[in-house]
Amino acid sequence: MNSVQPNHELSRRRSRRPWASVGSLIAVCALSIAVLLVAKPFGFTVLPRPANGHDPVGESDQVNEAGQYAPRQLSPLEEQRAARLSQAAERPNELGTVPIIMYHVIGEPESEWVRTPDNFRRDLERFYQLGYSLVPLQAYLKGELDLPAGVSPLVITFDDATIGQLRLITEECEHSETGISLERKVPDPDSAVGILLEFSRQRPGFGHSATFFVDFPAPFEVPDEVVDKLELLLEWGMEIGNHTYNHRDLRDATADVIQTELGRLSAEIEKLTGQRPLSLALPYGSYPRDPANKQYLLAGEYQGIPYENLGVLLVGAEPAPSPYHQGFNRAAIPRIRGSEEELSKWLNYLESSGTRYVSDGNPDTIAIPEGRQDEIADTFAGIYELVVLPEQADTSP
Ligand SMILES: [Zn+2]
Repeated sequence: MNSVQPNHELSRRRSRRPWASVGSLIAVCALSIAVLLVAKPFGFTVLPRPANGHDPVGESDQVNEAGQYAPRQLSPLEEQRAARLSQAAERPNELGTVPIIMYHVIGEPESEWVRTPDNFRRDLERFYQLGYSLVPLQAYLKGELDLPAGVSPLVITFDDATIGQLRLITEECEHSETGISLERKVPDPDSAVGILLEFSRQRPGFGHSATFFVDFPAPFEVPDEVVDKLELLLEWGMEIGNHTYNHRDLRDATADVIQTELGRLSAEIEKLTGQRPLSLALPYGSYPRDPANKQYLLAGEYQGIPYENLGVLLVGAEPAPSPYHQGFNRAAIPRIRGSEEELSKWLNYLESSGTRYVSDGNPDTIAIPEGRQDEIADTFAGIYELVVLPEQADTSP
């Protein structure tokens, strides 16, 4: 196996700024001081952040002490993934399905709606080993999937903005020159965000994209930290989605109520962060019963302020269609519950059926197996070049 194989994963996505490691703490602190003294003399500051979901290996990992490029030694897990990706790259299928995982509580003890931090780590490891990388939900919804050859996309979502998804802890650090002791807030390493950031730092090419479907009064449960947390998520390249303002069941809601619930949440997030949510997860998975009201899930207006959603996510219960497939319906996108049973069931199914999306490595083309040309959604017919791959003889024993 080629020892630099995973760097291929990075070829089209160069590093913005690698996530700060413990080793760079002092340097980070020096930066923090500048922020503290200038902007927040008595407040807290936060870690610098990678801007995109695919923070590849830090450049420092590839440069030795003499300043020369030095390929990193791969771990057995990385070797396994690399072997898998090079094999998968021979049979891309961009009409395959995409698992969109739905988590609620990250904490103890494990139950139907609770995933423990350790199990969440194991989930990430499993996704990585199986050849998945995390993609931003909006990239999926817009049909702008851009992954290296052989990689399969996977989307992670969190509902309800519970504290275990993003908990901040106070960390002490010292200025490298003045020795002044400082406090700053960082993600708890056992919260979902802390786990994601650490995992993506250790596993180049995997990314840490995630979408958080929030509701009020206090997303992530600590009122004083709401704005900081929302801003941090966006700065880390994560997404904030709409989960209605009051976690409202929309089954019997009127057009006015739907627009109030969605528009108020959207306006509030925009007021706090400058960005509007562009996706919706339905509380309880409840779809409006009146067909005339379904349009307000995708677009509407509240107090003169418009809102829109590129996609509406359901609560159950299967892998989602490729965004390039004619079966893709942005008003009803299925998710897979992030529980042991459901995850295993669907990951195993995707593995054995060979139905999952596999990238061809070229963002300007849609690669599909021969005979499936009719399944492409009309929307994309003229946008991407179609690459039809001839049927391959099965050489497996
Ligand atoms: Zn919910």
